[in-house]
Amino acid sequence: MRVFSLLLAASALTISANHLYAGESAPVSWGYEGEHGPSQWGHLQPEFALCDKGMAQSPIDLLGAHKLDLAKIEFSYKDSPFHVINNGHTLEELEPLSETAQSRYPQHGQTATHFNKDSTIVFDDDLYLLEQFHFHAPSEHTVDQRHYPIELHLVHHNERHEAAVVAVFIKEGQHNQHFESFLDHAPKNVGEVVDDHKHVINPKDLLPKNLNYYRYFGSYTTPPCHEGVIWAIMRDPIEVSAEQIGRFRTILGHENARPTQPVHKRFVLETSYFNTAAQLK
Ligand SMILES: [Zn+2]
Repeated sequence: MRVFSLLLAASALTISANHLYAGESAPVSWGYEGEHGPSQWGHLQPEFALCDKGMAQSPIDLLGAHKLDLAKIEFSYKDSPFHVINNGHTLEELEPLSETAQSRYPQHGQTATHFNKDSTIVFDDDLYLLEQFHFHAPSEHTVDQRHYPIELHLVHHNERHEAAVVAVFIKEGQHNQHFESFLDHAPKNVGEVVDDHKHVINPKDLLPKNLNYYRYFGSYTTPPCHEGVIWAIMRDPIEVSAEQIGRFRTILGHENARPTQPVHKRFVLETSYFNTAAQLK
């Protein structure tokens, strides 16, 4: 396991930005509290305006979803070495991309088998590559205004650079060995990275057995709050122990959940098929 720091790189960036905007104030960061908190994001920078003015923002409350016979999401997740960063906002595992994916992002008509070294999903007959996953505590989405202790976000892109995020609620229950190995690789300090290429994590181990899901169109839940994100939120949570929830919160050091946003005229859909049709193979 290798731990190194991004702090040097980060301060170099700050210096060059200050130089660029000499005479002006330092670049504004965003956070989850006070004057840099979610209610202020839309005013912090012009590029963040959508956080305030957007009409299809995330997260939302999922109560009142319409049941529909939605297509299954086909998951094809691979083992991947640990490359976990603590960016101050969350703890995030970056997925390696194969040379195939790097040299030619999925072209129309290609299937998951063309990218058999990459973690992919097929969603709406469209191939998406998994790029990273990260966690929020408490959950960002709610069901009847109730939060889960943690929410996992698996962030994917297709060839048109459209985003699909698969979310998994995490509730208190049994100890979870897969979450444990993520916690073991979680950098304790902001700007740190933990690299461990001797051990692997497979994101499929963080999915619930039953793959029924809610879906709707929304946005990223962090600035600049870009819209056009297709969300699939697994209906069933996975479990981790109370001790693991506590340890995750301690490492993160603060809450990182954006409050729920107005639904406006959007529909939230929920799969209606039987449980057996939605099991992960
Ligand atoms: Zn997220």
